Amino acid sequence: MKIAFCASEVFPFAKTGGLADVCGALPLALKKEGLDVRVFLPAYRGIVDAFEAQKISEGLFQTRLPGDIPVYLIAHEGYFDRDSFYGDERGDYADNFERFLFFNQHIFERCQEVEFIPDIIHCHDWQTALLPVLLKYKYRQFENWAATKSILTIHNIAFQGFFPKEQILKIGLPESYPQEDAIIYDRLNFLKAGMIAADGVNTVSPQYVVEIQTPEFGCGLDHVVRSLSSPVKGILNGIDYDSWNPPTDPFIEAPIFADNFQIAKAVNKEVLQLALDLPVEPRVPLFGFVGRLSHQKGIEILLEALPQLLSLSAQFVILGMGEAKYETALRKAAAGQRDQLVFISNYCEYRAHHIYAGSDFFLMPSVFEPCGLTQMISMAYGTLPVVHLVGGLRDTVYGYDKRGLEANGFGFEVLTARNFIQALESAIAVYQVPAEMDQLRCNALKTDFSWTSAAHAYQKFYQCLLSD
Ligand code: ADP
Repeated sequence: MKIAFCASEVFPFAKTGGLADVCGALPLALKKEGLDVRVFLPAYRGIVDAFEAQKISEGLFQTRLPGDIPVYLIAHEGYFDRDSFYGDERGDYADNFERFLFFNQHIFERCQEVEFIPDIIHCHDWQTALLPVLLKYKYRQFENWAATKSILTIHNIAFQGFFPKEQILKIGLPESYPQEDAIIYDRLNFLKAGMIAADGVNTVSPQYVVEIQTPEFGCGLDHVVRSLSSPVKGILNGIDYDSWNPPTDPFIEAPIFADNFQIAKAVNKEVLQLALDLPVEPRVPLFGFVGRLSHQKGIEILLEALPQLLSLSAQFVILGMGEAKYETALRKAAAGQRDQLVFISNYCEYRAHHIYAGSDFFLMPSVFEPCGLTQMISMAYGTLPVVHLVGGLRDTVYGYDKRGLEANGFGFEVLTARNFIQALESAIAVYQVPAEMDQLRCNALKTDFSWTSAAHAYQKFYQCLLSD
């Protein structure tokens, strides 16, 4: 079975968040299932040189992912040779419509050029959501594309790719295309168009499927999700244990194994405290946060809770980049609290590894969370997540209040600063009882978040569509 895996971010070539992690790891898991997967990505600035990609033809380069998976880089100097992927300090790039339309259209052209006509086009998020539309209304009339099916995976319904509705004429669709499929609230909406045209739609956790059908989490598309002809599937993401491998992680001081985690965690914590210039206090619990500084990640709640959290005997490290207002507020909160709170305003892979490995707990007060990878990564490093039980967090974190010694973290139901603080207090209480803490860490370390079951589920999904 041939799969064209099309995305705007793929680790290690281009990453702003979890989408890249997924698109860098799932292809290999699918290949292990016997599928012929090839990845398509824009040739953003620097990738061709950094990864020594080979030129195939004008505007097309090829490199590989581990497992010898071909990655085709579609180049356009004007569109992709820029500092960022989607925008700059002024906001989204004004020509994102043209940039991603170009990428989507060229995927068809380049597939033909390299003689790879896929059975399935697997699209991810709004940036590739025009592919199902172009397939259904343009390419399927050609014999070579007639049997190809499309799947759209929604990694985050909050990002929809909307543009002035007049732009729809530039897509070059036939008159038979029902334009209302792509328009909502008087704007052109790539994600809506893709959801309706795709042969299958899924999202990245079972709980998020339920949530996006409600006005609270559907971001204006809940009624579209509810009205799709086939129900949206929920396939839980995994994590890439090659990139996040505590026993062999080159970034961390002490390798973490299930049978040495007490010593390894203590060493990594000390190294982290030293690196951050925090007092080296082995018995003071250390809470980490790694993530985008955005409303989604619950930064407002974190800021609201911070004064009280700082009255606890605990240390905090926050690594994040994002909205300027959050950066300013966190910088302010950290000023004068050097002994307790460190804020690193940066995007930094190795620091993230240090925090996962050296913290005792990991904070995720997310407002919504389609799946969330950071809670799974932290558990793989024996660091217990403290989370708002929403989306994929509900599917992956078994809270201490309900599961006792079978828990792998701490959760709370309703997102308020009070509930968040209580969850942290309960984490600290467990921390004071080393045997309980060890048991929970052991549970977290043993939870299996590998890609294997997701790869099975996607393979079944592909097969199901092809047999329709
Ligand atoms: P998102 O909503 O951003 O996709 P996920 O939890 O799915 O959130 O994935 C986030 C990914 O991005 C993880 O691999 C995490 O380690 C990484 N990440 C986020 N912010 C940073 C940062 N400031 N520095 C390093 N890595 C980061």
